[in-house]
Amino acid sequence: MNRSATYPDLDFESVDRIREVQAALLRQHARRCARRSPYYRRLFRRLGADPGALTPETLHRLPATGKEDFARENEAFLAVPRERIADLVLSSGTTGAPTPVAYTERDLRRLAYNEAQAFRACGIGRGDVVLLTCTMDRCFVAGLAYFLGVRAAGAAAIRNGHGSLASHAHVIRTLRPTAVVGVPSFLRKLGEYLAGQGEPPSASSVRRLVCIGEPVRDRALEPLKLGRDLRALWKASVHSTYASSECVSTFCECGAGPGGHASPDLVLVEILDARGTPVPDGEVGEVTLTPLGVEGMPLLRFRTGDESFRVPGSCACGRQSPRLGPILGRRRQMLKVRGTTLYPQAVFAALDEIPGVGEFCLEVERDDLSDRLTVRIAERPGLDLAAIGDALQARLRVRPELTTAPEAEIRARVYDPESRKPVRVFIRPTRRTG
Ligand SMILES: [Zn+2]
Repeated sequence: MNRSATYPDLDFESVDRIREVQAALLRQHARRCARRSPYYRRLFRRLGADPGALTPETLHRLPATGKEDFARENEAFLAVPRERIADLVLSSGTTGAPTPVAYTERDLRRLAYNEAQAFRACGIGRGDVVLLTCTMDRCFVAGLAYFLGVRAAGAAAIRNGHGSLASHAHVIRTLRPTAVVGVPSFLRKLGEYLAGQGEPPSASSVRRLVCIGEPVRDRALEPLKLGRDLRALWKASVHSTYASSECVSTFCECGAGPGGHASPDLVLVEILDARGTPVPDGEVGEVTLTPLGVEGMPLLRFRTGDESFRVPGSCACGRQSPRLGPILGRRRQMLKVRGTTLYPQAVFAALDEIPGVGEFCLEVERDDLSDRLTVRIAERPGLDLAAIGDALQARLRVRPELTTAPEAEIRARVYDPESRKPVRVFIRPTRRTG
């Protein structure tokens, strides 16, 4: 991948050996940050800290880097001359404009290696044909990452991007992929579409589904209805992945157990509570990553804004690498409703369990004391809003206001062509009068 060695089987070695390799890689990475990244050079100088003395155990003493820091001082994160940049993307910022992320040729090789490790963990390799249903362009890195990873894993790629259901069905029929990468709610639609055409997806060539952008498990690591539906429709193994564009890091479920494996030679994972203190395995907090060996825009302790937890214990597959649970929501989207806190994803998962509910979105009016939630559900004959309200109350201990709207109207809001996954939550501050 680069001038430093890679350790493709490190995750099968002992925890002590992993720690030893990570300590050496972290030292190298921190030194490079202090030397080449104006942002971190300033940070280390201000702290009077020696980057070469940093260890995985003392890493938490270093201040974390937020998305807002990365957006505000973007240029100061660039650690190579501009002519060394090989690819530029825009990552979704916290608020407002998306933030540029620059990768060097070596970063792209690292990305390919990371994705290949993830695909191998899913059992995808030579002889596999992988249908990519995510876009390669639009300044996203995801599609490119999967494409590079499929090839690095020795498999063949089919790039059908954001094609229609009919075009993906045609590809499945004619090119016979063995795996599909996509947003799980879309893969469910695709499965239902195929079944509706009299071609059950379980009878297709597809044996693995790699799910991006939406969770398929809950806090207890049990499959959500979305995950159960995918298994039932496709009779394929379902693997959830999580990735961060800024951190050039991917996590992927192996199939033997829940939680996405991190490649231990590529990333250090911390979970931080609201005060920024690392929490033990199993506890929910903000996913904070230190991607090792990144060259273009190297980062130390990057707070992703995503909430999850480290899955306790080791995986049945034998890998000793840390596993990341499902993304439960974004920290800034946490809802407070009369003393109960929850993420929009919990509302979506609950709605998905209720028979007869089709498309929906959630509007949130922010208030200091209690957020006001309104769920808009697509109009359908026989829709019983009172029963839906009861079901949500029972599951969430919160009763949002419910209204209906024409399906086309909701679809137009949820499937924004500017976004790579459905957007179902719309948050606005309370408009105060006077
Ligand atoms: Zn595993």
